[in-house]
Amino acid sequence: MLTIENLSKTYANGVHALRGVNLSISRGLFGLLGPNGAGKSSLMRTLATLQDADTGTVFLDDVDVLKDKQAVRRILGYLPQDFGLYPRIDAETLLAHFARLKGISDSQQRAEAVESLLQLTNLWQVRKQKLGTFSGGMRQRFGIAQALLGNPQLIIVDEPTTGLDPEERRRFLNLLSKIGEDAVVILSTHLVADVRELCSAMAVINKGQVLIQGTPSQLVSELEGRVWRAQVNNGDVEHLGEGATLLSTHLNAGRTVARVESTLCPGPEFTSASPDLEDVYFSALRGREDR
Ligand code: ADP
Repeated sequence: MLTIENLSKTYANGVHALRGVNLSISRGLFGLLGPNGAGKSSLMRTLATLQDADTGTVFLDDVDVLKDKQAVRRILGYLPQDFGLYPRIDAETLLAHFARLKGISDSQQRAEAVESLLQLTNLWQVRKQKLGTFSGGMRQRFGIAQALLGNPQLIIVDEPTTGLDPEERRRFLNLLSKIGEDAVVILSTHLVADVRELCSAMAVINKGQVLIQGTPSQLVSELEGRVWRAQVNNGDVEHLGEGATLLSTHLNAGRTVARVESTLCPGPEFTSASPDLEDVYFSALRGREDR
């Protein structure tokens, strides 16, 4: 169990990147969802012991993450947002190098770890290929392979699907779903679909604050009976009544469809809609005063 309490961080330029973050994260895949600039990477880097917080505590079981950095690094696997690679080195050689850095000093053990991770990430066939020739998806899978060295108990994956094409994204998500059983895995993303497809628990963060947390199904069911949809002309939804919040507008076959949160039907053109995780996300971002 990872327990984060009252974590705050202000950068030297005055940006309040984290403002009193509280989160309890169990084993399994946890989705940290928020728009760009929400503070996700700031939180990930703090958990990965790469930067200090101003206030707060973080415990992974009984390990004090903010104080006992050496202990954390032994049980941490981290795939940063901008994972740099050495383009002229082949995948197998670089992974073996990372394995040595991770402390796997026995060469037999190292060879076994490297082979099993290259197999897991489906890179065994291309292990002799230089990393500079890898596609975005292959690079991310290599990033996961290095993050999994040494059987980490805390795995942090920062915006891993950004820039992947649909097929690469699918492969990457399948891979993540395999590793989530025995460790705390935190996936940060701005894509609702990543969380919907993978995560058993989640939080939405924005402006350095946790807005909601829970299981996706529980958060969706809280919106039951409160979401309404209507086709609108020219995106015009200005006449919404008191207590109604516009969640989103999107195009459907060239027509604009608005989704609105309200306890009462917001207007004659609206019909009741089943809430989905995207509604949860926008509802959290727009702010629910009555919760
Ligand atoms: P996210 O990962 O959700 O996009 P970040 O944690 O990267 O969010 O950023 C949160 C806020 O902190 C943003 O306003 C960003 O500009 C700012 N920020 C991030 N890193 C730094 C830094 N090293 N120095 C100053 N400001 C930063």
